[in-house]
Amino acid sequence: MGGKYIFRFDDIAPNMDWGNYEYIKSIFDKYDVKPLIGVIPDNQDPELQKYAYRDEDYFWNEMRKLQRNGWEIALHGYQHKYVTKEAGIFGINNKSEFSGLPIEVQNEKIKNGMRLFNSRDIKTDTFMAPSHSLDRNTLLVLKENGIHTITDGFALYPYYYEDLLFVPQLFATQRRMPFGIYTFCIHFNTMTKASITEIEDFIKLNRDDIITFSEAKAYATKNPINKLSGTFFKSSLSVKRGLQNI
Ligand SMILES: [Zn+2]
Repeated sequence: MGGKYIFRFDDIAPNMDWGNYEYIKSIFDKYDVKPLIGVIPDNQDPELQKYAYRDEDYFWNEMRKLQRNGWEIALHGYQHKYVTKEAGIFGINNKSEFSGLPIEVQNEKIKNGMRLFNSRDIKTDTFMAPSHSLDRNTLLVLKENGIHTITDGFALYPYYYEDLLFVPQLFATQRRMPFGIYTFCIHFNTMTKASITEIEDFIKLNRDDIITFSEAKAYATKNPINKLSGTFFKSSLSVKRGLQNI
């Protein structure tokens, strides 16, 4: 079996590049590809607020429509506001909405985010950490609030850690791989027409190997290759080392 691929969209909020959103959505609809989308419950990130705004009613109605069409939704933080310089367990970016904060503060954020989702009829049991930054306390409060799956992690197949299922995310952009499950991140606020065309070309050539986030859960495995994931936690450098060792 060759590699399998999942697409995820980050930073979905009332403020975003709606033109790129419509364009990318039309491509995914055309090939019937269902991505995982990271929705921010209460976007307060000044960087993201620079993008065009569509009002809350329009936005949440659109999210419910996507959900009915089989697009899966992840809780993408609470307000997407970076308040610490902690990289957390993945060690990717030195900024976080969660890592390093007391557990009660983190719990409040996750609880508020889930409450907002519920009030808008959005269902999820998946977390997408802003800047990939979360710590052990985040893992505890996620479980307390009914979230059991995380879109992140350095591994070749989904794996369990601390009673949570991690669906790995190794490369930001799409590429073919001989085996494993890969999640590609689309930040369409910063995408050009050319990079969107590259996504369409990849989908056209690899449609049969693109799966949904939920389908990926079935690949959770104790495959020995996956044992490397323990060492993958430290830094993305160890990913490279790990992959070279196979
Ligand atoms: Zn984000």
